[in-house]
Amino acid sequence: MTPRTKGIRTSKLVNEIQPSGIRKFFDLASSMDNIISLGVGEPDFITPWSVREACISSLERGYTAYTANAGMLELRVEISNYLKKQFQLPYDPKNEIIVTVGASEALDIALRAIVDPGDEVIVVEPTFVSYAPLVTLAGGKPVSVGTSVEANFRLMPEQLRAAITPMTKAIMVSFPNNPTGSTMNYDELEAIAKIVEEYDLLVISDEIYAEMTYDGNHASIANIPGMRERTIIISGFSKAFAMTGWRLGFVIAPSDITSAMLKIHQYTMMCASTMAQHAAIEALQNGMDDVGKMVQSYKQRRNYFVKSFDEIGLPCHVPGGAFYAFPSIKNTGLTSDQFAEQLLLTERVAVVPGHVFGSGGEGHIRCSYATSLDNLKEAVTRIDRFINTLK
Ligand code: PMP
Repeated sequence: MTPRTKGIRTSKLVNEIQPSGIRKFFDLASSMDNIISLGVGEPDFITPWSVREACISSLERGYTAYTANAGMLELRVEISNYLKKQFQLPYDPKNEIIVTVGASEALDIALRAIVDPGDEVIVVEPTFVSYAPLVTLAGGKPVSVGTSVEANFRLMPEQLRAAITPMTKAIMVSFPNNPTGSTMNYDELEAIAKIVEEYDLLVISDEIYAEMTYDGNHASIANIPGMRERTIIISGFSKAFAMTGWRLGFVIAPSDITSAMLKIHQYTMMCASTMAQHAAIEALQNGMDDVGKMVQSYKQRRNYFVKSFDEIGLPCHVPGGAFYAFPSIKNTGLTSDQFAEQLLLTERVAVVPGHVFGSGGEGHIRCSYATSLDNLKEAVTRIDRFINTLK
């Protein structure tokens, strides 16, 4: 054994990862006035009132103690019913579902439950910024596979095949995607599933935007024959129910994997917040109309926003889901960092440079349309003015 290096206090693993590229940018934006923010990845709606009321009632009734580690059984039953009804996914509430502290915790425990030191995990990019760092923190090696605008940011089977090595343990995918908004249909996922089976891999499928699809229903890779046994689905309440601040998510998987995840969850979180769990029961029982209204509103904004980008000369593929547009800025000659910084300083519109989402992201900016139509219109006017100063 080599003795430890004196004077270095933080771990090698932590030193390997970088702070989030999104946060860095927003510290600058938050110090400025008159900003239109297209930067944050969260709904602009407030959680529906009946859901907030259920939380208040939980407190009034004195539910202030821990729940079962895996979450209240009543909530897991509701989650199970919801998954069956919305996505035809049958999961046993007793041993295939864990309620987590946001989808964020679900991603963390999923990776820590399956990754051994040196295992490779293929991360399909551009994607949510936490995947690669979480793989590293779990002791694994993230292997990035970049999708392209030409393929509508979908994973192509040959790309996956080319990235697999004897060390590959799993792939991480997320459709509808953050930041591109792209979706993959059943047939496209089936082609991926064939390779996953051939190489005996696992899939971590982050389906947190599953409710937000605008041109057809969401397809889950777990629905493909043979895939249920290989898939860990990550989801939660943050996006569909406008509950980001509640920190409530869930993870579903075959029971050998949920038992492994539960051990980590037990020692690190104990359980998710009790009053948030009561609120989530109400959300699933009576909140689906509210979800439908919010989704309609996002669709209307998407239609306006994507068309506007094309009109001002920033080509934008049509995002089929989530609430992000990911237009190309290649014809401006700027990098995504330069574009985002100059746009913020001159026109006070905050967007996120595409490169922070990994391979395939450079040359694009992420603009969230989870903000009012008035804000979107003003943002388009300002972006148009900014581009014209570059000509
Ligand atoms: N996955 C994706 C794809 C996301 O975009 C986000 C939030 N931006 C999360 C997970 C984290 O969600 P939560 O608030 O439930 O932790």
